[in-house]
Amino acid sequence: MKQVLISGAAGFIGSHLCDKFLEEGFYVVGLDNFITGSPKNIEHLLERKKFEFIKHDITLPIKFHSKKIDLVLHFACPASPVDYLKFPLETMKVNSIGTLNMLEIAKKYNSKYIFASTSEVYGDPTVHPQTESYLGNVNPVGPRSVYDESKRFSEAISMSYFREYGLDTRIIRIFNTYGPRMKANDGRVVPNFITQALNMDNITVYGNGNQTRSFCYISDLIDGIFKITSADNLKGEIMNLGNPEEYNILDLAKIIIEKTSSKSQIIFKALPEDDPKQRCPEITKIKKLTKWQPETSLKEGIDLTIDYFKNHI
Ligand code: NAD
Ligand code: UDP
Repeated sequence: MKQVLISGAAGFIGSHLCDKFLEEGFYVVGLDNFITGSPKNIEHLLERKKFEFIKHDITLPIKFHSKKIDLVLHFACPASPVDYLKFPLETMKVNSIGTLNMLEIAKKYNSKYIFASTSEVYGDPTVHPQTESYLGNVNPVGPRSVYDESKRFSEAISMSYFREYGLDTRIIRIFNTYGPRMKANDGRVVPNFITQALNMDNITVYGNGNQTRSFCYISDLIDGIFKITSADNLKGEIMNLGNPEEYNILDLAKIIIEKTSSKSQIIFKALPEDDPKQRCPEITKIKKLTKWQPETSLKEGIDLTIDYFKNHI
């Protein structure tokens, strides 16, 4: 039986990965310290025979006695801007010491190693849509740098393990992803707007709302990650993963108000420092290499996410 180690297992994406790999017949070992994740996200798995959970901060040493680990998925890291600004040093440590620890495990077991990178490595991009070859426009000392620069460091060290040791590293640059199991108070735009709309609170658009994002529904992302892990020919590759349907934030607010039949009003608040003006993945590479493409439109995904939040706020 194949065995996968997942860091960040109790987070939004990590918990869906646990579900997926169990469904695919893997033995799943999850690691998390709950800094931004929740035990609730994995409680439905605790009785499963092929699931093991270890509460652990991955910036601290860990020894495994398993005979084999086929696959290491390194997804631990605060991901919402609200979270990583609240935990700046923890974010930098998990993307440096934490990444090093996960790479060492992959090296010891000669596992495939998948790193959850981010569209934030492109910063406030001057190339649109963003291709994997674009080197980015990141402010190295701004507030978001704790996330952006440490993810860039993680990419660099992952590539060093590929070049120095021949480790099978695969870097996935994930674009904005949303869906069930995001926290209601997560701070990211989709859960913020949906919870505000359901509670009939004001919808807080930052800036004038002209900035764009491209939103990927969680089941599409998980499908893409699984395809990347399963393909044979991706050693040392870097791939964008996201849905290229691009929306401005004001339109997203209007869609959510309409879909929730909410009486909430839109109000405008200050734009956070260094907030990227546009974001859209160029996904030709992953389509060609894995035949993946997103299947869920924003409108369908928002409906599913609203249904979830109706029972979780
Ligand atoms: P999340 O905050 O829900 O999940 C992250 C998980 O990592 C949490 O459960 C948290 O407790 C855990 N964690 C953090 N530091 C840890 C440590 N030192 N030791 C053990 N566990 C630790 O965030 P998410 O949205 O699920 O993001 C998962 C990964 O995907 C992150 O690496 C993030 O940077 C990346 N990513 C996410 C998105 C997105 O839109 N959701 C976009 C780009 C990249
Ligand atoms: N945003 C907003 N209102 C909110 C939360 C976020 O207008 O209540 C904006 C934010 O300024 C950014 C976009 O929505 O332009 C996406 O923000 P998010 O925090 O979800 O992710 P980011 O892509 O910035 O990491």
